[in-house]
Amino acid sequence: AKVAGKNCYRFYSRAMDQAVERRVHLEHALRGAWDRGELSLVYQPVFRLGDGAMVGAEALLRWKHPEQGLIAPSVFIDVAEQSGQIETLGPQVLRAACEDAVAWQRARPGADPLFVSVNVSPRQLRNGDLPNVVAACLRETELPPWLLHLELTETAVIGDEVHASALLSRLRASGVKVWLDDFGTGFSGLSHLRRVPVDGVKIDRSFVADVLRDPDDLALTTAIIAMAHSLGVTVVAEGVEKEGQYAVLRERGCDLAQGYWLGHPVPAAEFLAQLP
Ligand code: C2E
Ligand code: CA
Ligand code: CA
Ligand code: CA
Repeated sequence: AKVAGKNCYRFYSRAMDQAVERRVHLEHALRGAWDRGELSLVYQPVFRLGDGAMVGAEALLRWKHPEQGLIAPSVFIDVAEQSGQIETLGPQVLRAACEDAVAWQRARPGADPLFVSVNVSPRQLRNGDLPNVVAACLRETELPPWLLHLELTETAVIGDEVHASALLSRLRASGVKVWLDDFGTGFSGLSHLRRVPVDGVKIDRSFVADVLRDPDDLALTTAIIAMAHSLGVTVVAEGVEKEGQYAVLRERGCDLAQGYWLGHPVPAAEFLAQLP
């Protein structure tokens, strides 16, 4: 048993070394990846449940590593966040997304404008520069501020609500919309809504996944919608994979939705070419 234990220990420590090594490698490989063209944005359409119209799209970052192929954002965004690279990457993403959104409006003169939604990491929020970065980006691209939506996770806001609230108020005063992402995963979220000024919440896809078979998730989703509406906050459901989920969310008064059933994320050029 002792020997097995020792082997076990050795095995785990080797696995841990490998995980650390991989992170160090990714951190190194990520440097300059944007300039080398390895990073790109894909867009997932967002629809209004009332009439089914497309109203905007979420920008999602993709990294094609030269040897390892596609790396999951959940992995490399974390690396970028931990290493601080997100502080250069974040503004690059923002700039590209605003430029793309300007192109969408130009491609559809006379049509209702489409918003672009950009994910903002906790570190970008903590670095108080965000309002200046956003302002410069809007000025240079000439995207109307209300067409830029910023998605922040609950965890980015929790902990330092005073700082976060001040920052969000500044952003909203400039006309930009602020959404709370992955909403409901920390149930404290409901009380945060009163203190943190946001325009919308995105119901986490773990709730949406179960609305058809788990009465608790349906009840919670319905409560989030009612509560958000009573505070004048828009509700987006993410991860809609089935028609039934779409139908029940629509019946419960959810405002907007996105998910594989409605549309997969597609490369920027394809998104532009396919615009209705
Ligand atoms: P998120 O912001 O919650 O983004 C939604 C994720 O759900 C995306 O994964 C999207 O591809 C996926 N998704 C969309 N519809 C469905 C569906 O119907 N079913 C399921 N199962 N999944 C669906 P993705 O692209 O892998 O991104 C993962 C996370 O990485 C994002 O979660 C976001 O937190 C982060 N991320 C992605 N791009 C950026 C970025 O540019 N900046 C920052 N800070 N974070 C980003
Ligand atoms: Ca998001
Ligand atoms: Ca989310
Ligand atoms: Ca459940």
